[in-house]
Parts: sequence; structure tokens; C-alpha cells
Amino acid sequence: MKAYRCWAEIDLGALERNLGRIRAALPPHMQYVAVVKADAYGHGMPRMVARLMQSGASMFAVANVYEGAELREVGRGWPILVLGPILPEEERYLAEYDLTATISTPEEVDRLSAAAARANTILPVHLKIDTGMGRLGVWHEDAASLYEKVMAAAGLKLAGIFTHFSSADTDPAFTSEQRNRFLHALETLPDLDTSKLLIHADNSAGLESLSPDSPFNAVRIGLLQFGCLPYPDSFLAELKPEPVLSFHTRVGITKSLPAGTSISYGQTFQLTRDSRLGVLTAGYGDGIPTTASNRAQVIIRGHRCPVLGRVTMDQTIVDLTDCPEAQAGDRVTLIGHQGDECIEVQEFSQWAMCIPWEAFCSITKRVPRLYRTSREQ
Ligand SMILES: *Cc1c(COP(=O)(O)O)cnc(C)c1O
Repeated sequence: MKAYRCWAEIDLGALERNLGRIRAALPPHMQYVAVVKADAYGHGMPRMVARLMQSGASMFAVANVYEGAELREVGRGWPILVLGPILPEEERYLAEYDLTATISTPEEVDRLSAAAARANTILPVHLKIDTGMGRLGVWHEDAASLYEKVMAAAGLKLAGIFTHFSSADTDPAFTSEQRNRFLHALETLPDLDTSKLLIHADNSAGLESLSPDSPFNAVRIGLLQFGCLPYPDSFLAELKPEPVLSFHTRVGITKSLPAGTSISYGQTFQLTRDSRLGVLTAGYGDGIPTTASNRAQVIIRGHRCPVLGRVTMDQTIVDLTDCPEAQAGDRVTLIGHQGDECIEVQEFSQWAMCIPWEAFCSITKRVPRLYRTSREQ
């Protein structure tokens, strides 16, 4: 049997419970758009989507038409929103895979309308309004003219209107300003009938639509459904999200070296005592970023052990001096529980000087994803 040198365990039961808890906290009419771009944040899109379909997602969002096409193979009929821009060569995939495009500019209205005519179909679109993200979307003060152009375009059917927050995790005042700009922009749209449209703004960090007074009828959730809070101490901790992914490797060898020896490329660490080391069978080629060099910890036999020196492509060196029972072959936890210890993705990403979204996306394709289904404890 093949041994795993570095792997991620994905808990489908935890995913389902997370979705259940988020849904239960949302007003009943609220549509749940499950954001599964970038291979469902590295968790493996097809398996995540299949489970989300069974557990109450209303709709899916992906980054581009190729992710949309892959998702379409998992289920016919589910609405799929493409969040990113559609390149000219990609327009035909919208009709082919029954995808909903995001529109930000008049030029896109013309192009997609022509693509609809060529495919002899009607393409659903969501209009995106830029309320301060400065990325996609029509600037909120100019929303009305683009809205009228979409409504007048042969071949396009407006299915939703949305905006995106830039700082929901760090700046509630600016987020509230963005909400107001969005609501005000909606008021400027002539003859707007919101009963037939999805109106959405909230991501995980800005999940104010838990309130029954939410002016929106859909939310777009990525990170939270994978059991990670968008920032430490978020009020969303009340929902008790459970981590879906854990990340593991093995001890390849153990050995002892004298005080004063330098460790790994660039000699960035010198042993301050005679030490016992473990060389792990994973490195940045698997998703342990080099920024975690000399900073991260791992769990072996239930003890935290520090990373020494630079993380290399295929191997990482840790200090086992205070964990004398550790041996070659031991399981090493990079993210997740082992014994009484736990490393959450938040902590891992602080060591790696990145954000949790990025830590998930950094787990490379060399790393097999192993699926299992836990029951509620
Ligand atoms: C990625 C993304 C989301 C999901 O954000 P989370 O913080 O992971 O919940 C929502 N909306 C848009 C436009 C996105 O790009």
C-alpha cells in the first residue's frame, strides 16, 4: 500500500454541519451562494460541491468559466455565478455550461449580448456595483446607466445585483458606508423589481444578513463554510464552525546534532543546545510556505515542536529535543488537532505571514485530499 508523505484530511461531516449552522442562523428566505472558487479553497471542488448540494446550498460561485464547467459536471440545473470577468474567447462557455456572468462595464453588455445572439439563447447576468472595493463592478454613482443598458440588451436577463466589501474583517465603518452606497445605488435604478432578483453583498466577514431585517436576499459564503473564522474573535464564533481540513506529514528521520550547528539553507538558525531533530517529509512544494521558516510549529505525539531554519521544497526540519519519544514515521500535524493540541489555520497563516484563504490555496496539488465523514461529537 502506498504511504502518504503529506496529505490533507477533509471532513465532509464538518462541512455539512457548518452549512447547517449558517443556514439555521440566516433568515429562512435568504439564498445561500456557496463560494467554491480555487478548487473550493483547496478542499477539492467536486466533493465539496456534491456535499453542499445535499446540505442546503442554493447556488454556487466560482472564479471563471473553467471552474464553472467543472462544477457543471457535478450537477445539472444548479445556478452557477462566475465572479471574475469573461474574456472574449470564453463567452461561448456561458451558454454551453449554463453559467451566469458578472457584468461591470457597457463593453461587457455588448459582448455578452452578441454572444447570446450567436448561441441563440438568453444569458443570465448579475450586475456588479463597486461601492469601494475598486476592483470589478460599475462605480455606484454610475450604476443606473449600466442597469438600463443591461435591461435593454437583447439576449441578457438580469438575475441579480451585488457588491463586494473590501474590509469587512477590519473596518466596520467603511463596510457600513459600502452597504449604504449599495442600497442608495439600488434606489437610483429605474423600475427595479427586487422580487425577481438576487440582491447580495455579504461575504463571511460581513455576514450581517443573519439579521431578519437584512435588505438582501442572498449571501456569498466561502471561508466560513470551511470552518474558519474570517478574523480571530469574530462574532461568528457563536456559530461554532468546525474546521473541515487538516494538514499532515510524517517524520522522515530523526538525528542528533551538537550545539552551534547551523540548520538548512542560508544558515538562518544555529542550534543553541545539543539537539535532536526530525526531518519532515513535506516542504514548500506541499504548502508549508518559506515565510513560516523559523516561525511555525507542528504537533508530533501531541507536543508542539518548532520549525528550525528554512523550509525547503520537500523537507522541513523540526526540533524534537523536548519530544524524545518521537520517531521516524510519526504523524505530524501542520493544521488540525493531535492529542490535546490544535493548530488552527488562523495560527498557521500568522506564522506564514499570509491570510487563511491563502494558506488553504497554498496546499499544492502534490498533496492528496483524503475524504472522510465524521459524526457530531
Ligand atoms: C471569494 C469571494 C467571496 C467569498 O468570500 P469569503 O470571505 O471567503 O466568505 C464572496 N464574494 C466574492 C466576490 C468573492 O470573490
